[in-house]
Amino acid sequence: MTVRSLVQMACLLLLLPLAAVNAEPKRKSVQSLVAAADALKKNDPKVKNAKVWESLSAELNAAAERRPRNEQSEDALYAYARLEQFRFRAAKARTALTRAVDAFERMAVEHVGGDQTDDALLALGDLRRDGLKDEVAARAAYYEIIDRYPGSNAFETARSRLGLSARVGSTPTKVAVAQPTAEPTRAPTARPTPLAEVEDREPVVAPTAAAILPPESRKVFAKESTVRRPLIVIDPGHGGEDLGALGADGVLEKDVVLNVSEFLDEFLRERLRARTFLTRSRDVFIPLPDRTKLANDKDADLFISIHANASEYKTASGIETYYLDNTNDKSSLKLAKRENMSLDFGGGSKNGIDVSFMLSDLIQNAKLDDSISLAHTLQNALHANLSLYYRDVNNLGVKKAPFHVLVGAHMPCVLVEISFIDHPVEGRRLAEKRYQRMVALAIYQGVREFFVSRTER
Ligand SMILES: [Zn+2]
Repeated sequence: MTVRSLVQMACLLLLLPLAAVNAEPKRKSVQSLVAAADALKKNDPKVKNAKVWESLSAELNAAAERRPRNEQSEDALYAYARLEQFRFRAAKARTALTRAVDAFERMAVEHVGGDQTDDALLALGDLRRDGLKDEVAARAAYYEIIDRYPGSNAFETARSRLGLSARVGSTPTKVAVAQPTAEPTRAPTARPTPLAEVEDREPVVAPTAAAILPPESRKVFAKESTVRRPLIVIDPGHGGEDLGALGADGVLEKDVVLNVSEFLDEFLRERLRARTFLTRSRDVFIPLPDRTKLANDKDADLFISIHANASEYKTASGIETYYLDNTNDKSSLKLAKRENMSLDFGGGSKNGIDVSFMLSDLIQNAKLDDSISLAHTLQNALHANLSLYYRDVNNLGVKKAPFHVLVGAHMPCVLVEISFIDHPVEGRRLAEKRYQRMVALAIYQGVREFFVSRTER
């Protein structure tokens, strides 16, 4: 080491403390802005001096925008949101409401697991409820606290906002909601993506004759020289006297899967320009063979049966997708037996279909590879999409089982178990429209992926 480099090193060492001192005013600046905001609320509670409010708001927002994201930007964002919230409450300013909602939403997405994010979600829920009058979105924010911040101060308040009874004798830190599959999300591996972002990535298709399908899907359905829109039969499991699996609080599989199917129907028609049929669009009993027959009669391209799972000890969770085949796996056989149960209803002559005979059906065998591929695409899409929001999504994978509703279908067909309705956490999620829509969106994306992959062969 030369004398010169020694001198350089000594200078560097001398400068280091200076650099640390230089960083100090920045840190103070967010603190002082936060203090200024608190003072302003006290000194001008009626928001008379709009100019002062506006300039402080702009300063806080700028500090919140600084990158990289750290505690400073989190504090600034939270103070900005609170300032705008106060302004909305005091002066009923619509701009302030929009800004506050936007900022609290940013907190929930950018600072997952942050110290103030649970309170941000609570404030977000309240603003959505009484400011935006959006009850569904408000409940989603409260449920996010219960799902992700079970140990937080906001937990009990969120429960009461949702009209759920308080847990007597339990402290919030003891995690009142059972989460057997994983720790509550504090630092997720993937940053949650708001639904809007997911949607924005979808292609916008003009509904003209020449472009009824996204370009990549158009080729798939081009039989000879004509363009055919894909026809997808969606089968909401159970219905009528056949309730399906039972969840907590009286939630029924037949109702949940119908809601998911309706969302899926909408996504497929509006975004894929597909033609669709639901085997049932209301709470009615349809025999299993009639569901498949409808798909065959319509010459459908795909058949997707939607179900919610249940387990013997109410502890299992996760998503699994099935295709039709024989299996020795006990739990798959048990599930198939439960899902096939409605065959016994009314004791009709349609009982006792010989699955092994149907499996030798040449038409279905020819579609087996496609069914397996469809099952994998849907399973992956569901797991990937839901994992953006929940850390504890259990990927149970693609399996095979003798489901009667898939027997004899002349097209690729699968049965999706979209979560466990009797699991304390998943069951509650399944009952929420937000989750049902999220599941449907994921299945739609899987279907789209499946068609796209077929054009690439
Ligand atoms: Zn079912």
